[in-house]
Amino acid sequence: MNKVKQLLDSHETIVLDGAMGTMLFAAGLQAGAPPEEWNVSRPDDIRAVHRAYVGAGSDIVLTNSFGGTRYRLKLHNLQDRVYELNKAAAQNARVEADAAGRPVLVAGSMGPTGELLTPMGNMTFDEARDAFAEQARGLAAGGVDLLWVETMSDLEEVRAAVEGIRSVTDLPVCATMSFDTNGRTMMGVTPSQAVRVMSGWGLTAVGGNCGNGIAEIEGVIDAMHREAPDVRLIAKANAGIPQWRNNQLLYDATPPVMGHYAQRVRALGASFIGGCCGNGPDHIAAISEALRSPITASDLAALQAERAADDNGATEPTGRERTRRRHRD
Ligand SMILES: [Zn+2]
Repeated sequence: MNKVKQLLDSHETIVLDGAMGTMLFAAGLQAGAPPEEWNVSRPDDIRAVHRAYVGAGSDIVLTNSFGGTRYRLKLHNLQDRVYELNKAAAQNARVEADAAGRPVLVAGSMGPTGELLTPMGNMTFDEARDAFAEQARGLAAGGVDLLWVETMSDLEEVRAAVEGIRSVTDLPVCATMSFDTNGRTMMGVTPSQAVRVMSGWGLTAVGGNCGNGIAEIEGVIDAMHREAPDVRLIAKANAGIPQWRNNQLLYDATPPVMGHYAQRVRALGASFIGGCCGNGPDHIAAISEALRSPITASDLAALQAERAADDNGATEPTGRERTRRRHRD
């Protein structure tokens, strides 16, 4: 029996990890520098992040390989090191997961290429698929248990990633998109459309990550669960909406706020719950702790009242709100 299935059979809710980028900036990574390079130049720093999340209660940790396709690595002239950097990313997480003393899985993080597919951009579907295949080969060689496609805006790019992964490994695949533009992805995909399309691809779980804070992800999970009640859903909200203060991007959601969020998204239908940008080990510990208790009756009543109010005032999102923040891990 594969390890993902074992985890799903033994856990009602699976605790994910928090941000990698936020932690690496705190460890001295310069803005604009490639985090993936640290997998080989500063493996101890990467392992320390994984170890902190394992200690905080994560059942799945994500590798430091978000920008690990050749398209993203090319910005740093590292495009010839895709296999090496991804394999090292997987190995760094593997060591800490295996030292946990309980089952902790390693998911190979795969973010967008940063290119637009034709006809809007210059990247063909085949080129995208091959780039994701190359990345997945390195991650699989380093020992990941599953692949994790995240922060996506274009369903075709997700499909290219899934096909690329499946051309090199039969490991399970999860995928999440960022609904950060008035409730849609930057490319206009709604949560219901995303779950409808992605659930046809045999993925282990799908959902939303990053974006504009907690309320946005709650809406995503609610919409996806209504559309496809049998699909396993992933929620990875940022720790609130970031604010610039003293030249620093600060996230204001405290660990207790994220614990509260975890109970609410679980009640709305999510079963894989963690945090994206701005979340550290303290946030994940609070999420892990909160998920050990049921949501209180008064919180549940408040949640239901809010969702009902949302339904009444629901309008289709229009326009392109330019408030997107760059996901950094
Ligand atoms: Zn993020």
